Amino acid sequence: MVIGACGLVLLIAAMLDVLYFHPISFSDETTVLDSPEVAFQNTARGQRLLEWRGLSESDPAAVLAQISAINAAQLATYTEREWAYLHWIKWHCHLALNQPSEQKETAAKLTAFIEEHGLTWFEIKFNIELAELYLRRGDYQTGLEFIDMAVRQAKTHNAELLLLNAYNIGGILYNSTNQLKLSQLYFTQGLVLGEKYPDNEFNARFYNNLGLLYVHLEQWEKALTHLQSAREIFEQQGLDKPSLMQVILLNEAFVYIKLGDGEKAKQAYLSSVKYLSDASPPFYQILDLKGAARLQNLLGEHEKGLQLATACHEHPYATSFPKQLGICLLIAARSAMALEDPERALADIDRAIAIFLLLDHKRWQIQAHLEKAEVLEKVGRSDEALPLYKTYHERQRAQLLSEVYALEFALETQKIQQERDLLNTQNDLKVVQLSKEKLRFRVLLVWAVLAVMIALVMLRRAQIMRHKNLELQDISFRDQLTNVHNRRFYQQEVEQFEVLNKHASYRVVLADIDWFKRINDQYGHEVGDQVLVQTARALQSVLNQDEMLVRWGGEEFLCLMRDDARLSARVTSLLAAVNGKPMTTAHGMMDVSVSVGVSAVYPAASLRTNATAFVEADQCLYQAKDAGRNRAVFHCD
Ligand code: GH3
Ligand code: MG
Ligand code: MG
Repeated sequence: MVIGACGLVLLIAAMLDVLYFHPISFSDETTVLDSPEVAFQNTARGQRLLEWRGLSESDPAAVLAQISAINAAQLATYTEREWAYLHWIKWHCHLALNQPSEQKETAAKLTAFIEEHGLTWFEIKFNIELAELYLRRGDYQTGLEFIDMAVRQAKTHNAELLLLNAYNIGGILYNSTNQLKLSQLYFTQGLVLGEKYPDNEFNARFYNNLGLLYVHLEQWEKALTHLQSAREIFEQQGLDKPSLMQVILLNEAFVYIKLGDGEKAKQAYLSSVKYLSDASPPFYQILDLKGAARLQNLLGEHEKGLQLATACHEHPYATSFPKQLGICLLIAARSAMALEDPERALADIDRAIAIFLLLDHKRWQIQAHLEKAEVLEKVGRSDEALPLYKTYHERQRAQLLSEVYALEFALETQKIQQERDLLNTQNDLKVVQLSKEKLRFRVLLVWAVLAVMIALVMLRRAQIMRHKNLELQDISFRDQLTNVHNRRFYQQEVEQFEVLNKHASYRVVLADIDWFKRINDQYGHEVGDQVLVQTARALQSVLNQDEMLVRWGGEEFLCLMRDDARLSARVTSLLAAVNGKPMTTAHGMMDVSVSVGVSAVYPAASLRTNATAFVEADQCLYQAKDAGRNRAVFHCD
């Protein structure tokens, strides 16, 4: 009992330990917000939508025509996601076709729809795209608002691929607003997260953009290392994103130009051209013109440089990308200076300054003012040049110094590394935790087996005890010598009726061995005992299941016999059973007889309180003795 109780307590403790203090979580995997594009690959309509999305930048007019051919009935069969995706494509087409009012209208419709139907993926993606749009337009503050919102949403909904996208655009936006630390933070966070998705296009972008960060800091070697990493990743992945590779190579070319390595710059530029086609969106056409103009200037081909730079800032889409427009104006100014046209150069620089002021782009403001100072000095207007130099050189130095310091020793960078270490440690911990949980389960299992065993032992013991109790009870209700029931049993039986039929009627039949004293006296007690045992057996043999035999005392037996027509014959059988054949004793064969007295008939239920039946039987027995023994006397008055 004690062992069992202890086992039970320990078992409960072990279970509490496992289940409560160390909750086991099997579903550690968090759900990831899927892009609708994954499901679209499985349906014809989805595939068409994906195709249109691909064409929406290179051939937006054709896509728009196909979209407008969709009638209302067809549109009604679109799922929410398909509807949203369709309008998203439409928005892209208007964007590519430079149709601001249609673009706004579609955006408003789409935003309302997304909100109404709770399309989280679209909400985040659209915020990222709006941020990108504002980035290209030079409205960095609005862009940042959208991207910070997108980052928060992507984190909340565990949309990791969208988060990569958002980190990239956010990093560029922070770079554009001269917040290099934050920019670097986004790119490095992106790289850490990107390790989970080795095939994603953003890994190459992150390296490219980190390269650009160093370009701005004029750390050319570091810039090159990052750009080359970007290119390697791009090549390894075999990404189908020509514009990305074009940008990486153009950036490389720019770094070589800055390093004055004409040959390598040319190689990089020529490689970049391979990734440009007529189908490339205007932004990349503009980037190409800018890169080509710079290269020509480096190679001393200033006429060509001027032509290309002019083509760049006069590009029909140039106003959509004001920063590029400003840079192309600066390149044109340099070509003009080389061609000894300072007036034109100054005019272009002033236009560029106006744009950079409008954009609030500090770095390019400094750059443009310094170039202006240079031109002014060259044309002999040193008094105007000097204050410009002073102001902007100082600003540049201050900015460079602070940012170089910031980038090299940025706490955030260290934080990223720490986070990364932490992530690894957490992973290791998870493994340890898992094996710990397995161990805990084993312990629990052992406890459970132990508890079952203890329970079984206890059950078995209880069984044995009950059996023993029954045995003891049985012993206490039986006569030790003859093994027939005793008076105590008789008392219980007339109350509880386990053997007797409660509803039947009975007669008390008293049987007393004749001349028993003589047997004892002549042959000894032992022989007397043997006779007692055999007499009991003989009497029992005549009785039925619902009748009973009690050793009433000494050599007197009490039978309760059912009253029916056969009773008289059965009483005769009782006498015959004892007297029918000699008994085997230690002294040899011996004839034994009993005298019997039979009471009147009484219902079983009356026997408990009824003493008359016994008195009657006893009187009859006395008469039987008196009449010569070995006989039965029935109910007598
Ligand atoms: P009657 O025919 O009139 O019944 O004569 P009886 O000798 O049988 O009757 P009596 O009452 O004179 O004697 C009964 C004897 O039974 C007395 C007693 O010593 C003996 N006796 C009682 N219990 C036992 C027992 O358990 N074993 C043995 N061996 N003798 C017993
Ligand atoms: Mg007697
Ligand atoms: Mg007797």
